[in-house]
Amino acid sequence: MNKIEHLGIAVKDLAASNDLFTKLLGVAPYKEEEVASEGVKTSFFEMGESKIELLEATKDDSPIAKFIEKKGEGIHHIAFAVADIQIEINRLKEEGFVVLNETPKRGADNKWVAFLHPKNTNGVLVELCQDIEE
Ligand code: ZN
Repeated sequence: MNKIEHLGIAVKDLAASNDLFTKLLGVAPYKEEEVASEGVKTSFFEMGESKIELLEATKDDSPIAKFIEKKGEGIHHIAFAVADIQIEINRLKEEGFVVLNETPKRGADNKWVAFLHPKNTNGVLVELCQDIEE
């Protein structure tokens, strides 16, 4: 794995949180994107080599809605950049981690993504991501 690509933060109101994080970080989000398949609307802030991703649910059964219902707003996942996501998925399965996406799926910000189940990672939802080259 390479660097921390981004931290994902679950929020109730993306517009309000965009304002808050713009004040906090001193920089506006460089993009907003909806991922309909995941039921989320996201925004991204650039922080040097890493990013902050804010996630708001767009439907009641979205994973983000369920997370906020259970735990409230806050840090939702940590994402690591990897050079070859399929190799990492295979390696981590071999190591005994539970990979939630055996085949990477298309995520926000032009990435292939896969998640690891938090039960094997000290309660932290881990995202792997690789840039989509087209
Ligand atoms: Zn993410």
